[in-house]
Amino acid sequence: MNSLGLLEMLALAFVIALPGLKALSLQPGAGGGSTLSACPSGNGQVVRLVSKTSTEYTVFFSGCPFYSPYNQTTPNTPAFQNKTVTFRITPVLSSTVTYVGIYASGTTSNSQKIMSTIGYTVTGIAMFSDADATGSDAYVNEGHTFDGCRGHAEMNGLYHFHTEPGSGCVYNETAGTHSPLLGIMYDSIPIYGALGDNGVPPTNLDECGGHTDTTYPFYHYHTTYNLKSPYLVKCLRGCIFNANGNPSIQQYNLVKTDATCVKAATQYDYSSFVNPLLSSSPVTTSSPPPPPSSAAACRWHAWLAAVLLVVCTLATQGFRTA
Ligand SMILES: [Zn+2]
Ligand SMILES: [Zn+2]
Repeated sequence: MNSLGLLEMLALAFVIALPGLKALSLQPGAGGGSTLSACPSGNGQVVRLVSKTSTEYTVFFSGCPFYSPYNQTTPNTPAFQNKTVTFRITPVLSSTVTYVGIYASGTTSNSQKIMSTIGYTVTGIAMFSDADATGSDAYVNEGHTFDGCRGHAEMNGLYHFHTEPGSGCVYNETAGTHSPLLGIMYDSIPIYGALGDNGVPPTNLDECGGHTDTTYPFYHYHTTYNLKSPYLVKCLRGCIFNANGNPSIQQYNLVKTDATCVKAATQYDYSSFVNPLLSSSPVTTSSPPPPPSSAAACRWHAWLAAVLLVVCTLATQGFRTA
């Protein structure tokens, strides 16, 4: 009975130590192979240009934010994604648009419901359409699970935004000026915050949520002002040349080639577009990375395990001598 008690205590000590050991082994970049490691509790942002040709570029995103702690209330832990995404350097506008999210249902031409990732922020966070996993409005139905940056993680731990993120989460607005760049959508067209020229909400946005203006004379999207549906974009106006793993885009065979992309009559000159993802150095954030907390957690668990071992050994000795 005494030896059984010792085994139980050893097992308990091991179970308590396990989370710490697991956390240590899940540090991003250590193994590089897993796609489902937990994001570190501190700065997990990794954005790195992988390759670039004359027509396209590929960027690595960790999918983890630079801020911490996560206070989103889904049961899902944000996970390191090891994601590479390929965009065109110059977007090609299509003669037809691709509706996304909840706007992609109801009519025969809009029957293709694009869910999941439809773009990435310049800080490497996935941007989803307005639809949740059931095809309903995610902001309405799941907004209560968003964290302070309006992000949350889906069942596989993919941390994402459905709307414009909170102030300071990707960028800060400057009064009187056009919103900063939020990210790039899967049709390679840039998306900015809600404000247009002179810091005023634009009034000439098309159905998808895009336009040209004085500040940026090439076609670009804006997030909606005051968090109105569809929050990011209603549709993608450019040809999609790479599904980048989006299951809906693959399912509906929406990936085009230069031969199958039916071009719109009007195309734009993107030579003045300053794209930070094309920089060879990572996109920097204003938030310095905190010390790695997983290692600290591991030490804490190891200490607890050691103390328990000593206690249970002493207790066992006590039982034997009694
Ligand atoms: Zn979501
Ligand atoms: Zn604009």
